[in-house]
Amino acid sequence: TPKRPSNQELLLNEILQEALALPLSGEVANYIPALASVNPNQCGIAVANLDGQVHVAGDADVPFSIQSVSKVFGLALAMLRMGDDLWQRVHMEPSGQAFNSIVQLEWEHGIPRNPFINAGAIVVADTLVSHYSASKNALMSFVRGLADRPEIAVNQDVFLSEKQHGSRNAALAYLMKSFGNIEADVEDALDHYFYQCSIEMSCRDVARSLSFLANRGVQPHSGDTIVSRRDAHRINAIMQTSGMYDQSGEFAFEVGLPAKSGVGGGIVAIVPNYGVICAWSPRLNQYGNSCMGMYMITRLAEKLGLSVY
Ligand code: GLN
Repeated sequence: TPKRPSNQELLLNEILQEALALPLSGEVANYIPALASVNPNQCGIAVANLDGQVHVAGDADVPFSIQSVSKVFGLALAMLRMGDDLWQRVHMEPSGQAFNSIVQLEWEHGIPRNPFINAGAIVVADTLVSHYSASKNALMSFVRGLADRPEIAVNQDVFLSEKQHGSRNAALAYLMKSFGNIEADVEDALDHYFYQCSIEMSCRDVARSLSFLANRGVQPHSGDTIVSRRDAHRINAIMQTSGMYDQSGEFAFEVGLPAKSGVGGGIVAIVPNYGVICAWSPRLNQYGNSCMGMYMITRLAEKLGLSVY
């Protein structure tokens, strides 16, 4: 017999239905053909609680292109590997510019504002390439281990497409190289960056894998310490100030949770001492954040009083 939906699941379904009933707005990311062809009307949400339960609604088990949500995994791994030296190479201030903006890099001598704009994530990728003999494998085992899902993989079409259409990211990387802030070959740093953007995960996978950020660094389902309490705090702080691109201030104002979005339409939000929410729907607003994803997380946070403030 199918199990009865929990109260949480009823609430998630209610919010999902509200989101689906909104007037359709936004376009799917179209900077690469492999993303432009996803069905734009998919919509899902998952909440992983610290007791190990995951509640879901809609397309929460459909793998999607995590894109910039991968910047959280890359950052966590680089913090483990580099310690505080990382902060010589990338800062922790909001940029106030689009995620792929190049202008500040010149004024600021090749040091990106934060690890969640593209320039910052490329520096993080560079540190991984320089510190691991096989950085892409290292990142994949990190992510698979966190989600406890060996099946998690990269979409090769997206990966190749990212490489073919990556001129702007290449420009960022070469400019940083000219300032001495890329150690490895530029092409290797970019290869790692595009690879991590092309990972596919479902809402359920993303929410479970990042649960340690809601639990002071300890992964609830395994009991493993993933990062120190201090680093969990720091990752959440940067998510809060810079995770939603140039809409981070508004997201803090309206929702009050550390979060990270990607142009695949995924948004992950951390609720300290409670759990992790991941919402996904491909249509994006003008900042590159999922329209329905924003709606669902905002509603859920409101209804459950989840703001950290
Ligand atoms: N692959 C995308 C890019 O580098 C990721 C950006 C994003 O999700 N904001 O432009």
